[in-house]
This record gives sequence, structure tokens and C-alpha cells, in this order.
Amino acid sequence: MTTIAVIPGDGIGPEVVEQALDTVEALGLDLDFERFDHVNAETFLSEGTALSDADFDRIRKTDGVLLGAVGDARLTHTDYARSVLLRLRFDLDLYVNYRPAKLLNDRLSPLRDETRRAIDCVVVRENTEGLYAGVGGVLRPETPYEMTMDAEINTHHGVSRIIDYAFSIARRSVCMVDKSNAVRFGGRLWQRHWREAADRHPHLETSHLYVDAAVMKLVEDPTRYDVIVANNSHGDILSDLTSQLAGGLGTSISANINGDTGFGLYEPVHGTAPDIAGQGVANPIGAILSAALMLERLGHAEQAGAVRRAVDEVIEAGRTTPDLGGTLGTRDVGAAIRAAL
Ligand code: ATP
Repeated sequence: MTTIAVIPGDGIGPEVVEQALDTVEALGLDLDFERFDHVNAETFLSEGTALSDADFDRIRKTDGVLLGAVGDARLTHTDYARSVLLRLRFDLDLYVNYRPAKLLNDRLSPLRDETRRAIDCVVVRENTEGLYAGVGGVLRPETPYEMTMDAEINTHHGVSRIIDYAFSIARRSVCMVDKSNAVRFGGRLWQRHWREAADRHPHLETSHLYVDAAVMKLVEDPTRYDVIVANNSHGDILSDLTSQLAGGLGTSISANINGDTGFGLYEPVHGTAPDIAGQGVANPIGAILSAALMLERLGHAEQAGAVRRAVDEVIEAGRTTPDLGGTLGTRDVGAAIRAAL
């Protein structure tokens, strides 16, 4: 039996996760869901922690995690997100942030040139090092002499495995994005591993771009890219760009993966969207497609394909939430997708 940990979270998280779960359940697979409804901001505010050690141990024993969104305007510091998302990411060593961007329908892309729309790329973002590793500190805080430092961590282990992962999933090409002309030491480490990996994969086309050129080239012609590999901060930004090029937040998906064990945490890219939470209008497609990616990686490729086709059909028919130009609510879109299955 395959067990999925489900963390609906906050804001629109529970609304979209409900639709994703109903959709997965409609497929009649032998899956068991372990719910962690209490892992949310409310629990953090009242108890000081949202994800207990016992929760973490239970999650570690499952086969994967489906997450909605975590965040709350009442929690302005990063402790809450760190104790849930970053804890799972770091302690389960989910070192790959896999961010596919595939244009689902022509009318969704902000790029209007007909010939430039076959966007189907994946940003592979290093997920455990870089500027987000939390190494640094502050001297003389809140004085005119305040000095802050956030160190960018690049390790032989971390860099080589993310580049190897990028090559392992490439269909035709890999592009590495960095800023090695300005960030010298880490840059050299990335460059060295990049060249070694490229030599080991002569059948794949390879290219390298500095991050400033990469954003221009992606807008110019996103269809040229298959796999793009980058460090934590560059990958963060590039993947939001590719998401937007492929239709925007409502449909974008992401997976945090341990490339060695295959364990994954799957989540829509969007956050808690407090401005529309509770109104029943959140687009559930990001959550539903995240669940489809989870199914595919758990060995149910056929069912995942069926869900994707159902989503395509529903978007084509204009049966969407307002963010994609439709008039339906979250539940109606979920129901339309299940009806199309
Ligand atoms: P957080 O702080 O949790 O990241 P946020 O509001 O800053 O929340 P998002 O949740 O990503 O960031 O939302 C950004 C904008 O996109 C908001 O206006 C939100 O309403 C809209 N949005 C996000 N997700 C969806 C969705 N699934 N359906 C419709 N609109 C969405």
C-alpha cells in the first residue's frame, strides 16, 4: 500500500487540496492518505509549533507528501515556514526543486507570438544550499552600524548531485544558469561540475547562460529550453518566470525531491492567497496537477496522463476559475475535471 501524507495548510491550501484528493480518489488507486490537517498557522500560533517531531516521523515513513500552502499574515517572521516547509525540505534532504512549466493552452501565455508557445521545460533548482542555507548573521543589529551577512553555500556534494539530476531527466538538452562571472568561488565549483557532467553526456545538447542573459533569452524564446539547472536563488526566480510564461500561478506545480530515494513533496507553486481564501474561487489546477505528478512518480503514469488530459479539456472548454478567464468556482472546476476523466 502506498501512503501519502497530506498537509492542506493555510489559506486556499485546504480548498485546492480537497479537489486534488477527490480527483486522485476518483482514479480508484490503492492509495492510503494520512492527513495532517493540524499542521497550520493556527496550531503554530497557539502551540508554538505546527509540525511536531512525531508528525515528522510519521511523514518520513510515508511514500510522499501532498501539500497545499503554508503561511499567514499574522506570522511575519520566517519561523513558521521554516518549521514546516524548510524542515521537511532540509531534514528529508529534498534537494531537488523540480519545476516543470508546460503551456496547457495557447491563450494562457503572455507571449502572443504563435510560433513561440510550445513551452515545455523544467527548472531544476538546488534546494538545500546557496543563499537559503541560513548561514550568516548580524552584527550591531538595529543600529546605524548594523552589518548583515548571508553566505552562499556551494558544496561539491550539493552541486554535483543537482547537476547530475538535471542530466538524468533531460530529454534533449540541459542549460546551466549561474553568475560565475561575478560570483567567483562558487561559480568555479559549478562550472567545473558542469563541464564534467556535460562531457559524460555527449548525446545531450548543453548550454550555459549567465542569469541576466537567461531571463532575456527565456522571454525571447522559451521553447528552446528543456532542462535548466541553477542554484537555489537563481532557480527560485527562473522557475517563477517559466511558470508565468506557461500560464501563471494557478496552474504551476512543483516537487521537492530527494533524487536518491525518490521521496517527494508535491505542491502547487502558489501560496495561501489570503485575498481570495474562503471565497471558493481559488484555481485548483495547480494542486490537481501536482497530485498528477506525484502519481506519475509513484508509478501511476497512465492515471497521471488521464488527469492531465482532463485538465487540458476543461481549460480548452473555458471551464475555469476567474484567474484563467472563467466563471467557475474551485469545486466546480474540480468536478469538471473529474467528469472529464
Ligand atoms: P503567500 O504569502 O502565502 O505566498 P501571496 O498572496 O503572497 O501568499 P500567492 O498565494 O502566490 O502569494 O498569490 C499571489 C496572487 O495570485 C494573489 O493575488 C492570489 O489571489 C493569486 N493566486 C494565487 N494562487 C491562486 C489560485 N490557485 N487561484 C487563483 N488565484 C491565485
